[in-house]
Amino acid sequence: MPVYEYSCPTCKSTFEELRPMSRHADVAQCPTCGSQGRKKLSVFAINRDLLVDTVPVTAGGGGCACGGGCACGA
Ligand SMILES: [Zn+2]
Repeated sequence: MPVYEYSCPTCKSTFEELRPMSRHADVAQCPTCGSQGRKKLSVFAINRDLLVDTVPVTAGGGGCACGGGCACGA
């Protein structure tokens, strides 16, 4: 079961909740003050976003056409 991170808008604390993926959007009760916490972006989601930003877009969309401009060795 994945762990989700939540932040409390009332006391500004962050906490984690273990719950099924199907319930990840549910509100989580803050253990400090009892307010409803809001789900934060998971580390995984943040990493994936960074990855998308840094992966170069391949011209033509089909990968290497081997015209000599790539490093595939052919
Ligand atoms: Zn709180």
